[in-house]
Amino acid sequence: MTRKLRIGVIGGGIGGVALARALHRLGIEFHLFERAQGFGEIGAGVQMTPNAVKVLKALGVEEGLRRIGFLPEAMVGRNWETASELFRTPLKDTSIKAFGAEFFHVHRADLHAILCEGLPPAQVTFGVQCTGVQQGEGSATATFSDGSTFEADLIIGADGIHSAVRGALWGSHKPKFTGHMCWRALVPVEQHPLPFVGPDAAFWMGPKAHVVTYYVKGGKAVNIVAVAESDEWVKESWTEPSSTQELVDAYTGWHSDLIQLFERTDPSQTYKWGLFDHDPMARWSSPNVTLLGDAAHPMLPFLSQGAAMALEDSYVLAQALAHFNGDVPAALEAYEQERRPRTSQVQLQARERGKTYHLSTPEELRQRDLAYQKAQAQNPNAVGIRAEWIYEYDATTCRERFAAEPALA
Ligand SMILES: Cc1cc2nc3c(=O)[nH]c(=O)nc-3n(C[C@H](O)[C@H](O)[C@H](O)COP(=O)(O)OP(=O)(O)OC[C@H]3O[C@@H](n4cnc5c(N)ncnc54)[C@H](O)[C@@H]3O)c2cc1C
Repeated sequence: MTRKLRIGVIGGGIGGVALARALHRLGIEFHLFERAQGFGEIGAGVQMTPNAVKVLKALGVEEGLRRIGFLPEAMVGRNWETASELFRTPLKDTSIKAFGAEFFHVHRADLHAILCEGLPPAQVTFGVQCTGVQQGEGSATATFSDGSTFEADLIIGADGIHSAVRGALWGSHKPKFTGHMCWRALVPVEQHPLPFVGPDAAFWMGPKAHVVTYYVKGGKAVNIVAVAESDEWVKESWTEPSSTQELVDAYTGWHSDLIQLFERTDPSQTYKWGLFDHDPMARWSSPNVTLLGDAAHPMLPFLSQGAAMALEDSYVLAQALAHFNGDVPAALEAYEQERRPRTSQVQLQARERGKTYHLSTPEELRQRDLAYQKAQAQNPNAVGIRAEWIYEYDATTCRERFAAEPALA
C-alpha cells in the first residue's frame, strides 16, 4: 500500500497533464497549478513516435489517440530542390513490428485534450504563476505570484523551458542561440489529400535549412516545421507571429511542392522563434523537488522528441512513486537513473542532427544525400534519421527495472 503522498505539479503542458493522469490512475493525490487561465494548447502538430505511443496507451488514451491521430505511410527524406527521395522508412505497416507501437501525427491541442479527459477539476488551479520552491525538512513549498503557497511531499516542475522550479533549485542558466530560426505553421486541407503532399512524414533537406511536413487532424491540416540559419536573434518562444510571405521568402529556390504548401499557410497560425541549445543537466532533483519535460531537458526539435520525452518522464516518475511506496528520495533516485541518461543522449543527438540537416556546400549535400541513399539500399527498413534506439525504448516496463532495486515494504 502506497504511503499517502501530497504532490504539487507546477505546469499543465503535455508533461504536467500526463503526470497528473498517471498519478490519478495510480490513486496518488496531486494538485496541479497552471499559470494560464485555462487549459489550451497552441496550434501545432507533434509527431508521436512509437516510444511515446507506448506511454499514451499505458495512460489509457489509445482510443482517443486513434480518433485524433494520423498514421503516416512512411518517413521520407527528400532533396530540397529536386524532391528526389533520399530515404523512405515504412511506418504504417511496420512500426508495431519494428518498434512495438504505431507512429502517429497529432495536433498538440488534441493530444492535450485527450490527456486531460477525466482529470478531477478540483485538483487543478489555473491563473497561478509559481515564483519559486523552497526545500524544507522532508517537504517542499511552492510559492505563487498571488502570495499563496503550497506545501507538499514532492513538488514537480513541469513548467517548461523557462522553468521557475529549475531556477529555484539550480539557479538560472543561459541557453545558447544556435543560429537557427524556426517557423511552424498549419495549412488547412479542405480535400484530403493535397496533390503535392504525400501521406508521409516528409523531411526536406537543403543548404543550411530543412523542413518537416505532415498531416494532422486526421488529414484535415498539414503541419509545417521549417528551420533555417539566421543571424537574427529571435525570441525563445512559441508565440512570435510571422507571415506566409516571410516563410515563402526564406525558402526561395526550394521545390515547388513545398512553396505551394507554404503559400497556403493560415497567417493566423504562422509563428517563428529562435532555437536555443541547452546542455544536459548533471542532476534534476533535491530531496523533495524534481523536474520533468522541457524544464529538465529542453532539446532542439530535430528528433521530434520533446513531448515524447515529457510523456516518458511522467509515466516513469509516477511509477517510481508507486513502486517505492511513498519514499520520495528513493523514487527520485530511480526516476533520474532511468531518465537522465536517455534524455541527455536525445538532447545531444538532436544537436548533432541539426548539423547533418544543415550542411551548406553542394559537395557536403551531395555526400550526405548519397550516404542516405546507400544506407537505404542496404536496409530498406532503416530509419533515415537513425532514431531506432529512441523508438524501441519502452518506458512502461520501468517497474521491471526498479525491481532490481529493493522496493520498501
Ligand atoms: C518546432 C518544434 C517542433 C516540435 N515537434 C515535436 C514533435 O514532433 N514531437 C515531440 O515529441 N516534441 C516536439 N516538440 C517539443 C515539445 O513540444 C516540447 O518538448 C513539449 O511540449 C514540452 O512539454 P512540457 O510539458 O515539458 O512543457 P510545456 O509544453 O512548455 O508546458 C509548460 C506549462 O507550464 C506552464 N508554466 C510555465 N511556467 C509556469 C509557472 N511559473 N507557474 C505555473 N505554470 C507555468 C505553461 O503555461 C505551460 O502550460 C517540438 C518543439 C518544437 C519547438
